Amino acid sequence: METHEEVQSPAQTQSVLSNAEIADRLAGLAQLLSTQKENPYKVKAYHRAAARIRSLSSSLDELVREDADLTQFPGIGEAIASAIREIVLTGKLSKLDTLRGQAAPEVASLADYTRLDPKRVLRVYKKLKISSIESLREKLESGEIESALGLRMAQHIRQGLSEAHAMLLYRADDLRDAIEEFLLAKCAVKAVQVVGACRRRVEVIEEIAFVIETDDFPAVVSRMQRYGGRTALLESSTEGAVFALAAGIILRLRPCSARAWGLCVIAETGSQAHLKKLEVITGRLTSLSGKTAFKTEAAFYRKFSLAYIEPELREGYDEVELAGKNVLPELVTEADIRGDLHAHSTSSDGVHSIQQMATAARERGYEYIGISDHSQSLKIARGVSVDDLWRQIRYIDKLNAKGHGIRILKSSEVDILADGSLDYPDELLKALDYTVCSIHSRFGLNREQQTERIMRAMDNRYFNILGHATGRLLLKRPGYEIDIARVVDHARGNGCFFEINSSPDRLDLSAENTRRASAAGVLIAVNTDSHSMGELQLVGRGLDQARRAGLAKSAVLNCMSWQKLHGLFKR
Ligand SMILES: [Zn+2]
Ligand SMILES: [Zn+2]
Repeated sequence: METHEEVQSPAQTQSVLSNAEIADRLAGLAQLLSTQKENPYKVKAYHRAAARIRSLSSSLDELVREDADLTQFPGIGEAIASAIREIVLTGKLSKLDTLRGQAAPEVASLADYTRLDPKRVLRVYKKLKISSIESLREKLESGEIESALGLRMAQHIRQGLSEAHAMLLYRADDLRDAIEEFLLAKCAVKAVQVVGACRRRVEVIEEIAFVIETDDFPAVVSRMQRYGGRTALLESSTEGAVFALAAGIILRLRPCSARAWGLCVIAETGSQAHLKKLEVITGRLTSLSGKTAFKTEAAFYRKFSLAYIEPELREGYDEVELAGKNVLPELVTEADIRGDLHAHSTSSDGVHSIQQMATAARERGYEYIGISDHSQSLKIARGVSVDDLWRQIRYIDKLNAKGHGIRILKSSEVDILADGSLDYPDELLKALDYTVCSIHSRFGLNREQQTERIMRAMDNRYFNILGHATGRLLLKRPGYEIDIARVVDHARGNGCFFEINSSPDRLDLSAENTRRASAAGVLIAVNTDSHSMGELQLVGRGLDQARRAGLAKSAVLNCMSWQKLHGLFKR
């Protein structure tokens, strides 16, 4: 691709403040407010507004100049709207400038590192007797932060100091929708298809890519530079254009004719590994374009006698081979799901009652919902005491006897304690329908210890499903180390199961580990870990990953009736 470096924005947009610049200032203000004993909700509100603004397609600068009502956007209230107006109209934010002026230099500089938690950084500064970002970097690299303040602190600092070039899939989906709408409505694009990692449903996204049909690609490129006020163009040629989005990730546009649409979408959707395997059968995709018309993906696959390969599978495992033999799995869908096996209620840290959660699940058409509140040791999440769980069991029995149009399953998210024992006595666990067992403490144990800990827990006959197996929080912490092969083996031997936790920042097991567990014959639950009624819909996020792992409904625990599950849970 021919590239032009440092492409200039069109003249008329030069003076426009981009949404990114506005967001930077709001986030900077949040940073300094948080060092000031300011109400944490207010700090969070500024951070949240900044994040929203980064993925907005309309230019806030233009909206302010048109005197539009900014509170029409979710997350922007009166106070934040007036801060935005001030930034646009005066070029500064006086409150930010005042706080910056009053703060000591080591505090003031934290306004520029909006993903670092100022309070934690100041703790590091004090402990290590340092006072600058440069020293912070040095102490991180030398390992002193980890040895003096622990692994989690070091992870936080590392993440906060690295530049953001990645985004969770669910946030990228919002951005995808906004850009798609912009392309169709504002750029006169005739057709648009998201491709790449976003279409394959990869859980963390660094780039959003579209194939577009247009008569005037240069006009689309120039229009796109005004997305969100101003969007930097990094490269442009007749083959495509690359932009740096305010949200911190890359946008790639590739123009394509209707005649070659299917071929183009296939070439842009698959991973490198997938395309390599595909080209063994089809020959170089780039040399195909002139000869035959491939208007649709289906036409392409037909031509080479391959079954249609779902985008989520195009990662270069065995999908091309299976498509050739026409034995690809029929991937699980939301319609196959019969219940949720991991949900919280007000008994621990959920926001809705057991009855409310059951009603919401029934409205989704579920047959059952498992209430798995936290166990006694997890004080931070209001873990349920032994007596209270006994009471809850009797309460659910009563609810079920009355009939609620849905079966409420008696469960618990039982902590796996450091020594591998479970957080309730056996006679109580025995009274439950099943358990989800999770690690919420002592993340610092090494790989061997963590693996042994989980395997020991699985030896308890009341252990059913391993909750969020690695504890990862995407873009925040990598999760504890376990020897997944040994844990999978042990689970199979003991009749235990895994979950894909659908929470967008967990998606744990990963698709790759799910593939491994499922290949070993271990059934997988796709659970939401809902803490409110609304979160039950997150199941789609978990299903994205289940589909990436190639799971058919027969491989998914909660695609089964309760009668069948009941048998599987008795060990
Ligand atoms: Zn948990
Ligand atoms: Zn949970």
